[in-house]
Amino acid sequence: MMEGRVVAAHGRQYLVELADGTLLPCFTRGKRSDVACGDRVDIMRSSDDQGVIEAIQPRTSLLYRSNEAKQKLIAANVDQLVIVVATEPAFSDDLITRALLAAESEEIEPLIVLNKCDLIDKLPAARARLQMFAKLGYRIVELSALEHAEDLRPELYGVTSVLVGQSGMGKSTLVNALVPEANAATREISQALDSGKHTTTHATLYHLDADSELIDSPGLQEFGLGHLDRQEIEHAFREFRAYLGQCRFRDCRHNQEPDCALIAAVNAGDIDEKRFNAYHRIIGTQRDRKSTRLNSSHDQIS
Ligand code: GDP
Ligand code: ZN
Repeated sequence: MMEGRVVAAHGRQYLVELADGTLLPCFTRGKRSDVACGDRVDIMRSSDDQGVIEAIQPRTSLLYRSNEAKQKLIAANVDQLVIVVATEPAFSDDLITRALLAAESEEIEPLIVLNKCDLIDKLPAARARLQMFAKLGYRIVELSALEHAEDLRPELYGVTSVLVGQSGMGKSTLVNALVPEANAATREISQALDSGKHTTTHATLYHLDADSELIDSPGLQEFGLGHLDRQEIEHAFREFRAYLGQCRFRDCRHNQEPDCALIAAVNAGDIDEKRFNAYHRIIGTQRDRKSTRLNSSHDQIS
């Protein structure tokens, strides 16, 4: 038995980096598909150029992929979630909110990157839209991937980061600047995993230096929240925490109930109404999904 690190995941095929740095294509036994890029695994060599993943070591964090009927794992053992937005095209507040929730629920450090700051006439409006998140204490780094992608490197030092962003925000520009060999590595990995299918989403872990890692997943726009119940979502809104448990009713849905601590905080201006509405939008999805799902055992959010 050997230990290794999953540096690429593509369907049920994985590329595992061994202690000496060599890469070994690996499979799982049976239908098991709960291995994610970034996982530390125990493997058994089944031939010279192939191995079997026998066990997954305990994870410090786990991120899911969204937009699918099924929840899929996307990355494990991540320290930092980098949310890439840009001065243009317009970005989605909801996507930032959901990415922040995914990070909060796994105790991953979120970082918002405002890219394309070279487009200075668009900068004030973008900054204004991010103000809500800045007020909550989330860190925002402004940069231009085209001109100074290196500005991000110090933020990535010493941790394992994952990048998420709507298409057009400049995520690939950023990755290609920070990991010049990214394209070649992706091709190599595709070959190693014997897959010509570039349409399938796969995650790849790149070593930035001895201490820093970057996990990129082309087409990764949104992290899933479907594994979280209502309580976990409430707690993931960091400014809600001080008020939770203070409503008159223990099972308060923070809707119409009398003496709701959250509604009182919104009315007092201590909770941003936009955030409160975002909470209800996300919980609302849950209600719809639940009614169409037969085997749902507890509250789930899409
Ligand atoms: P992705 O879909 O997020 O991977 O975005 P891309 O990296 O493909 O970038 C989308 C477009 O934005 C491309 O035309 C890039 O050249 C452009 N772009 C990326 N970063 C910057 C930047 O910092 N400044 C400007 N002006 N354009 C950028
Ligand atoms: Zn309430």
